Amino acid sequence: MAPSDRSDTTKVSKSQLKPGLTLLATPIGNARDVTLRSLDALRDADIIACEDTRMARRLMDMHGISLGSRPLIAYHEHNAAQATPRLLAGIAEGSRVVYLSDAGTPIVADPGYRLAKAVIAEGGALSATPGPCAAIMALTLSGLPSDRFTFGGFSPNRSGQRQNFFREFAAAPGTLIFYESPRRLAASLSDMFAIFGERDAAVARELSKTFEEVKRGALSALAQNYADAGAPKGEVVVLVGPAAHIAPTGEVLDNALREAMTEMSLKDAARSVSEALGLPRKRVYDRALALK
Ligand code: SAM
Repeated sequence: MAPSDRSDTTKVSKSQLKPGLTLLATPIGNARDVTLRSLDALRDADIIACEDTRMARRLMDMHGISLGSRPLIAYHEHNAAQATPRLLAGIAEGSRVVYLSDAGTPIVADPGYRLAKAVIAEGGALSATPGPCAAIMALTLSGLPSDRFTFGGFSPNRSGQRQNFFREFAAAPGTLIFYESPRRLAASLSDMFAIFGERDAAVARELSKTFEEVKRGALSALAQNYADAGAPKGEVVVLVGPAAHIAPTGEVLDNALREAMTEMSLKDAARSVSEALGLPRKRVYDRALALK
């Protein structure tokens, strides 16, 4: 590391928030999980934009930061068209604008992307204070391989669409990370098992909160566990480890093929399942013909 780089990490200085847009990461459960830079930025900003003004005010109150006469502007997916020009105008005038979503890192399954893109397009400065993100905390605790991972966000509500969605990830290398609603956790785990076959998996719940819990196990066992126990409380991340290099059983192959053939042609189903299970296409195609 060059000496000038090292000095950046050893000095404890104020945030020196710059003009432009700064995306602030905020806690995902524990109010103390907020960085000094995020708090400095909230104190120093000229304009505070947020997904929900009540959540932003609560965070500021908790940390003794007063809003004063500064504008607090709601920005979410329903009012992006109206709020964006106002925020861009502020940035063009040299204001220091910060944006925070309700929890965690803005843009990650949260609003902020279109605003950030607009700022970049207008030649404005974009910065961020890094911090909590449920996907990364869940991966950290999952015990699953972390050298490669794919973030899938939320899957669709309906089972058929959800299985198609999971199919897109079946051949991805590394660990898969999905955000999930507790109400449909059991159904989603069951759909994941139908598409991915048996894999190591984890369900991370209420991260950084009082009832934090990580359940690790085989995907089928986790699906059964939540089918028996019912919907858990709180917020959930599901992680699915990479496909093992052991061949899936004939039953897993047959189930995957039957499922896929209800949605697509025999040829497409064979291609999709062979990619998902890492099996030779010819073998899967022959089996699909036999099942038809
Ligand atoms: N931007 C946030 C982030 O950086 O993680 C994610 C916001 S997204 C709207 C909310 C989803 O994130 C929840 O439904 C859940 O899947 C996951 N999540 C957020 N906080 C969590 C927590 N404390 N424990 C487990 N999952 C959490």
